[in-house]
Amino acid sequence: MMRKEEIDNIVVGLVESASSRDLGDILSELNIALYRIDGNRPLLRGSHACYIESPKRDTIYLSRDCPEEMRSFVIAHEIGHAVLHDIEISHYGISKFGDKEEEEADYFALRLLDPSWDLSEVEGYSSDQVATMLGVSERCTKYLV
Ligand SMILES: [Zn+2]
Repeated sequence: MMRKEEIDNIVVGLVESASSRDLGDILSELNIALYRIDGNRPLLRGSHACYIESPKRDTIYLSRDCPEEMRSFVIAHEIGHAVLHDIEISHYGISKFGDKEEEEADYFALRLLDPSWDLSEVEGYSSDQVATMLGVSERCTKYLV
């Protein structure tokens, strides 16, 4: 069972300490660096983003090929792994962990982004369609309803 309330509290605490919900401010608060790199770099393994824990400075590498409309969600998802999970490296969309970790990172991302989408506009569409329309992962659309 996913720790929803715990994640809610973590996100609230993080937004409070950063005094902002802006992803740039959140990354500074966590001292995580963010770099845009070419999508063909081996580091990315073909994914949209990669998070690497480092003794110097934890870093998220975002692919230049990541579609504009998905960037915020992808970065927020990787921040979720950084904050919630004891991991050395993760790739967006490449499930090295259990579904639980991926769901937690998705849920964290939605909570952090606090989406103000008008969900009535996506009513009746399939989860695949909704995910594409909103630029989020298909898995997390179940939290939107
Ligand atoms: Zn993930």
